[in-house]
Amino acid sequence: MQDCIFCKIAAQEIPVQPIYEDHEIIAFRDINAQAPVHVLIIPKKHIANLLEVSQEDSLLIARMHNVVQRLAVELGVSEEGFRLVINTKDNGGQTVHHLHFHLLGGRFMTWPPG
Ligand code: 5GP
Ligand code: ZN
Repeated sequence: MQDCIFCKIAAQEIPVQPIYEDHEIIAFRDINAQAPVHVLIIPKKHIANLLEVSQEDSLLIARMHNVVQRLAVELGVSEEGFRLVINTKDNGGQTVHHLHFHLLGGRFMTWPPG
């Protein structure tokens, strides 16, 4: 989608160092990390937010979770744990309107979130 920053990242129009990539998913470090490990996992296909995920995306969403599992191990946060966040719309704090999972780890996460 035009003017979507994550579509541009997915198409490598904005260069990022991928820490995982396949034909439908790309993962890269957040530019404004909130934890020692802060990775964004996104579908290459434009989906505005979690509410826009359709039945036909079910396998894609499952594969994104597989990527989370793999990265948690590779980035060394699987033993101590991590947090997976999907900010959705304004009250959820979503600022980029292209679906993304935040994988946060490497420190203790407080609750409730801010
Ligand atoms: P949201 O607030 O929508 O849940 O998360 C968007 C995230 O994208 C933010 O944590 C922000 O730091 C990150 N972000 C925005 N633009 C870029 C960019 O150009 N590169 C990278 N690596 N992260 C970005
Ligand atoms: Zn997009």
